[in-house]
Amino acid sequence: MARDFEAYKKSTYKWEPGHEKHLRITKSSLTSDFDFCPQQYHFKRREDRKTPETDAMRKGTNVHNAMEEFYVYVRPNLGKVLKLLNDKNREEAFSLFVKSLPKPEEPYLLGEEEILLKRLEWELDRLEATQGQHFLPVINEDEIHVFTEREFVHNGKTHTVPIHFAGMIDRGFENEDGSISLMELKTGKWKQRWDWRKKEWKDDVFKVRGMRKEMAFYELLLLNAPDEVMIKNGLDPNDKVTHWGWYYPAANYIYAEPRKTRSMTSVMNNIAKLIHHYERNTFPAKFFYKTCAHCSFFGICDEAQEDTWV
Ligand code: SF4
Repeated sequence: MARDFEAYKKSTYKWEPGHEKHLRITKSSLTSDFDFCPQQYHFKRREDRKTPETDAMRKGTNVHNAMEEFYVYVRPNLGKVLKLLNDKNREEAFSLFVKSLPKPEEPYLLGEEEILLKRLEWELDRLEATQGQHFLPVINEDEIHVFTEREFVHNGKTHTVPIHFAGMIDRGFENEDGSISLMELKTGKWKQRWDWRKKEWKDDVFKVRGMRKEMAFYELLLLNAPDEVMIKNGLDPNDKVTHWGWYYPAANYIYAEPRKTRSMTSVMNNIAKLIHHYERNTFPAKFFYKTCAHCSFFGICDEAQEDTWV
């Protein structure tokens, strides 16, 4: 989907009280960068220091683009694919599905194809189970912009912060009762830990918590989007998110659950914290040697220099 650059021009991460533009808050700036480390957020977002594009990022973009187009190209073939499935001809049904993927401009070199094929296998299962009912997404990489305000109190005075919430929602599917299930596609690894007491693998709680926050941010976008934005994106303004989940095809892992109110609370708390840091102009380091080792700003972060933590 083409990006709305005009909307982005109205906001900035370099915001300060009294700035003419809105403070921009996106899913990754809030739930990844700021949550991970306010200092990292400062380097990346406020100082606009570039981080090198990694293979993982390139792979993610390629897979997301392909899946977005898949849902467009598969539309005229759906009836045929379903008939083949019902005639027990899964092999041909699958090959018709695969033909609905766009041809990449450059050959895939980062494992995109395996991920896409796994994802299509799951979609074929879903098509068979639903018999096509609500199969196509009502949200397909839709970009949502919300311009709003939040108030905070400092030194007994109430201040208003103009905020621009922006984000592109992977996928939303309509449920039978008209509500929406949001689904996020990830191309990386899923994380589990061995539970010694129960002697079984358990989902990593931090990973689950992180995913829930991402999904709650999407829900926040939809909740706050003006009616005309919802209608422009082909959505009903009364649509409510009731469920969410995530696909990790590289790990053969899918998860879905009812939405969690506490995840939304956690996102709201993060927004309040972020505003608090802007208002005080302090973005402290959150040093933890294991995570900091992967930070692109390790070399320029005072907190990460050896003599400050040995
Ligand atoms: S090295 Fe660690 S503390 Fe420093 S900016 Fe990066 S994540 Fe934050």
